[in-house]
Amino acid sequence: MLIDRPGYLFDPLRFWEARESKEFSEDMTIDAGGSIVCAGYVDIQFNGAFGVDFSDPNLTRTEVDYVAKRLLQSGVTSFLPTVVTSPNAVYHKVLPLFSPSIATVVGGAGILGAHCEGPFINKKKKGAHAEEHIVNCTGGMSILKEVYGDISNIRLVTLAPEIEGAREMIALLRNLNITVSIGHTTATLDVAEDAVNQGATLVTHLFNAMESFHHRDPGVVGLLGSPRNIFFSIIADGIHCHPYALTLAHNACAEGLVLITDCMAGGGLNMGTHKLGDREVEITKDRAVLKNTSPPVLAGSIILMDECVRTLRTVSGCSAVDAITAATRRPAQVLGMEDEIGSLEFGATANFLFLDDDLRVQATFTGGYLAWKRKP
Ligand code: ZN
Repeated sequence: MLIDRPGYLFDPLRFWEARESKEFSEDMTIDAGGSIVCAGYVDIQFNGAFGVDFSDPNLTRTEVDYVAKRLLQSGVTSFLPTVVTSPNAVYHKVLPLFSPSIATVVGGAGILGAHCEGPFINKKKKGAHAEEHIVNCTGGMSILKEVYGDISNIRLVTLAPEIEGAREMIALLRNLNITVSIGHTTATLDVAEDAVNQGATLVTHLFNAMESFHHRDPGVVGLLGSPRNIFFSIIADGIHCHPYALTLAHNACAEGLVLITDCMAGGGLNMGTHKLGDREVEITKDRAVLKNTSPPVLAGSIILMDECVRTLRTVSGCSAVDAITAATRRPAQVLGMEDEIGSLEFGATANFLFLDDDLRVQATFTGGYLAWKRKP
């Protein structure tokens, strides 16, 4: 694999075009030691980790960069910081911190812009979102700016297509080149298909915060049977989604499956109480739940992407290539960025991983440089 400065994969055809040897001699050679080499992972739904919450009104860019650096150990080289349903003032404060910076330098995973999960969702499927901040989306551009403030860093919005104003909002967001995902919703299949016709291309954390599958109206889950190209993000932590449900989704629509962590601030931390937005969350051995809820409400996951990839492979029995694709090329496709990230094609950013045969990350490279290496 050849790296072009400053950080993109090199097209070997340039060897033939070179007139003298110094134009094509390598700067350095790295021995991958028999590792699997694949593109760096892309996480399009990531609420925070290592004690940092991206919906915290006191969030700083230093904290975001700290998380971006720690993420390298999980193989993630690009991500969308995700903001849950919040008061307008929180969006106005945190969204400007997520200016895109595709990693072509050593230091941390690249930020691709923000994923706003809410506040245009259905209160009946609020999950861990704060009901008092959920709103309808009538008013087009003016409500968008009123809620989010500066929208220039927004890359993806999750909304419920059945709420007032959502149909027009989907078309508006698409015109702004913002990906629209269906989520936290009670939509019937008809409403979900209409949302797809308006421009929605993704379903947020399939099976979670939506109506259960019914054979006469299969709802949003029924989109798995659609002939359209639709992507389905899924949390492969073995808790948000039963292993059999994960296998069903994979068997129904492997080419649409996108792994997300939906990781919250407790990811990478010890057990105990932590914050998600303005809610308190209890971390136990393998899950995060909203404090003082009965039955316990899941509050995002504490899994990181390398484990999601391994879980998908183990549970569904799919190939390593399939599992890796669900965390690389496919999330890049969701964002229309498949030429830039999530692949080893010439011209793409030189973000790549060395994995062992169990898909454990051994080393992470960003922009062609070693950014993290597992200690022997
Ligand atoms: Zn959610």
